[in-house]
Amino acid sequence: MANKWVYLFSEGNANMRNLLGGKGANLAEMTNIGLPVPQGFTITTEACTQYYEDGKMINEEIQEQIMAYIEKLEAITGKKFGDLENPLLVSVRSGARASMPGMMDTILNLGLNEDVVAVLAEKSGNPRWAWDCYRRFIQMFSDVVMEVGKKYFEELIDKMKAEKGVEQDVDLTADDLKELASQFKAEYKAKIGEDFPTDAKVQLMEAIKAVFRSWDNPRANVYRRDNDIPYSWGTAVNVQSMAFGNMGDDCGTGVAFTRDPATGNKGLFGEFLTNAQGEDVVAGVRTPMHITEMEEKFPEAFAQFKSVCATLEDHYRDMQDMEFTVEHGQLYMLQTRNGKRTAQAALKIACDLVDEGMINEEKAVAMIDPRNLDTLLHPQFDAKALKAVEPVGKALGASPGAACGRIVFTAEDAKAWAANGEKVLLVRLETSPEDIEGMKAAQGILTVRGGMTSHAAVVARGMGTCCVSGCGDIVMDEANKCFTLAGKEYKEGDYLSLDGSTGNIYDGIIPTVDATIAGEFGRIMGWADQYRRLKVRTNADTPYDARKARELGAEGIGLCRTEHMFFEGDRIDAFREMICADTLEEREAALEKILPYQQGDFEGIYEAMEGFPVTIRFLDPPLHEFVPVEEADIQKLADAQGKSVAQIKAVIEGLKEFNPMMGHRGCRLSVTYPEIAVMQTKAVIRAAIKVAAAHPDWNLVPEIMIPLIGDPKEFNFVRDIVVKTADAEIAAAGSDLKYEVGTMMEIPRACLLADEVAKTAEFFCFGTNDLTQMTYGFSRDDAGKFLEAYYDTKIFENAPFSRLDQNGVGKLMEMTVALGKPVRPELHIGICGEHGGDPTSVEFCHKIGLDYVSCSPFRVPIARLAAAQAAIAEAK
Ligand code: PEP
Ligand code: MG
Repeated sequence: MANKWVYLFSEGNANMRNLLGGKGANLAEMTNIGLPVPQGFTITTEACTQYYEDGKMINEEIQEQIMAYIEKLEAITGKKFGDLENPLLVSVRSGARASMPGMMDTILNLGLNEDVVAVLAEKSGNPRWAWDCYRRFIQMFSDVVMEVGKKYFEELIDKMKAEKGVEQDVDLTADDLKELASQFKAEYKAKIGEDFPTDAKVQLMEAIKAVFRSWDNPRANVYRRDNDIPYSWGTAVNVQSMAFGNMGDDCGTGVAFTRDPATGNKGLFGEFLTNAQGEDVVAGVRTPMHITEMEEKFPEAFAQFKSVCATLEDHYRDMQDMEFTVEHGQLYMLQTRNGKRTAQAALKIACDLVDEGMINEEKAVAMIDPRNLDTLLHPQFDAKALKAVEPVGKALGASPGAACGRIVFTAEDAKAWAANGEKVLLVRLETSPEDIEGMKAAQGILTVRGGMTSHAAVVARGMGTCCVSGCGDIVMDEANKCFTLAGKEYKEGDYLSLDGSTGNIYDGIIPTVDATIAGEFGRIMGWADQYRRLKVRTNADTPYDARKARELGAEGIGLCRTEHMFFEGDRIDAFREMICADTLEEREAALEKILPYQQGDFEGIYEAMEGFPVTIRFLDPPLHEFVPVEEADIQKLADAQGKSVAQIKAVIEGLKEFNPMMGHRGCRLSVTYPEIAVMQTKAVIRAAIKVAAAHPDWNLVPEIMIPLIGDPKEFNFVRDIVVKTADAEIAAAGSDLKYEVGTMMEIPRACLLADEVAKTAEFFCFGTNDLTQMTYGFSRDDAGKFLEAYYDTKIFENAPFSRLDQNGVGKLMEMTVALGKPVRPELHIGICGEHGGDPTSVEFCHKIGLDYVSCSPFRVPIARLAAAQAAIAEAK
């Protein structure tokens, strides 16, 4: 049997969203529950996929079915396509499975030509309306189907209004609009080289193709990537008989929400425009009235609309976003969907729906998009102010939040200016550990290079500071403290604003509002915690971050990157002495200086974590990241070590590597310099003994994690050092402290040998940043340069360093779990790569049976919610 590509609204229902798209499924559902919907049909998402498979063609079988359904629609409406007696006009609108507002295309009033307009004008006695429809149709068809820019038509309208001395489109007469229609057609011919099509069937097929094509337009592609919508889904197309809001003053069109999408407050929220068609409300050609004003002008239609709103909310058990038209006082529903909302509104609506008895707590937890929550945890731009401006650039939204300030180019300047009370943005080619204090002092960070796991991005996320990274459009002149972006030169002290969620960069200052965690936030999180199985830990390197994470609900530390403890103040000096030491004695002397810092930090972290587990990872960075670059710093180090500048420079030179990411880092440092592991073990154990003594009721069991293991023997070598040192410390202190030694799983070879590794490792933690890097063979530092091309060509739909590659990297993870657990049933396994805070990746971690995810403090609530949603989805 032939495939069924087309469904009448009366043949579908709300559960057929995958096939009919959201709009089509809801139009069908509204039809079924008896609401006033102009009838029509939906061409399925499968037809869209087929269109692409057929080389961007609608094949004959689909075309035949479409035309058969036009006949059905003619029978239902009693009108005929292209008819001169009683013509049928339709709208052609996109509708994907997940709503993608404004991303794809719409065409209204399709089916018109000169003859049909004349008939409509005469039969309706309303020639102004008929010509208004026609000029709109030519305009939309030209723009959407033939890609003749809107602006040409808008210019003609403006010219006409100026000639006629009127302000508004509605003040143009029938003759003016008729004249405009012929000017539009002339414009079309000039641009396309052909006459505007008059055959309704030709118009229809072209319009459907255009909607299919719009699935692949650049803005839709970007939107999909940002919202985890697979390209393979395709869009459906809805062909619906027109209801006219532009037939006079007893007509109009509106969009409305059943609750305020910004605040979540209950009550109708929206706009209505008399004598207009749908796009006028959105395009802002006239100022619409508030929806409640509609009550005075259209009391009956308004009463009916209110009752439809109640029916729809009750039916869908969620806030609805609707489009409707009033034609001569009669209401027609054109669309309903669960409305998009701010994070704040989402929380309020979910709680209110529970309180109203509309949904249960489980549904409330499931209905909130975890990705939205991060906007609640950082300052945000004032939404109104943001609407009024265009970004001057866009890069990676590496760490969310809104930041405004004066541009500075060095970490020292950031510190100095901030100390004088200035709000600053630190703009760098890229950041390095030396910039840490400047990064802390800044409101936001903007880098020219680097991806989502670049130093700036990771550190900024950890600190909860806004960061936009990898803005390759910036032409940087650090030496002269200026850069060029979008044709403008920015100098030190100039004002700039950054949106770390979208990656947008704005000229000047945009007002921000402080993030507030409303009461509903806590309620939803409390409910979420009842459902989740996965524990949520945090990646925190300082007591301050650890406390912040605890406030946000972290149940332990999954990753403490000990190298980050050396970014600050005098510590980096001691650390540099350690790196640049020539002899064991020199190195041990430097390590002696470092030990108290480490121990102090670990004590602070254990205290902040109140007995929850703490995983401390031993040193991992490529050493050259820490060596001094500035002459003054080199001199300082030379003086401290009693060496010449030339000697220090030679050491630095010797540390340089061609590929530091694959170089002398991770456990390799402990293999070459076991004394580093000795010092770190002492610090971990001494701190734990001290804190455990102060809190006998806590079950403090420090977890020591060895990074970058590729072979079980490598692990065992370092483990032996740790065990020997730890046991000696514990014995010397007369303590009964327990501790664990485990490893990161971040090199594919370690995953392949997980059963071997599990013989001696007490826990595994997936370092999916490195595991992604090494599985793909993409350098974390350099992939940003070419990944954009991978998205454009659809080789990748998602950023592999942000969203876990479940097929490849995920398979290694599954295999690791399957190999490791049988060898050691009590083995606990987590993830601490950046993916640990990404909702879809969290869901995957739940599915493969990990014990916990660990993410930066500000993503902890997101992970808690995502983990709960994964458990709820699994139970269904
Ligand atoms: C990882 O590789 O995923 C990880 C957490 O370690 P780092 O990012 O410090 O290399
Ligand atoms: Mg790593």
